Amino acid sequence: MGDIEGRPTVRLVAHCRRCGGWLLSPRSIAEGIGPTCAIRERAEQRAAVAPVELALFDIAA
Ligand SMILES: [Zn+2]
Repeated sequence: MGDIEGRPTVRLVAHCRRCGGWLLSPRSIAEGIGPTCAIRERAEQRAAVAPVELALFDIAA
């Protein structure tokens, strides 16, 4: 019985939260999003005047 998923939350690999692609660079992994998607996301956030605060760090689940 191997409990592979029973380890602490240490992510050596990650997926882009936007497109689901693999994140290869440490920076992208730390941000949880690929460089291209990060640019698009920032552009969208600037364009969208959202009255509600964006819970950017609520995606860790
Ligand atoms: Zn992406």
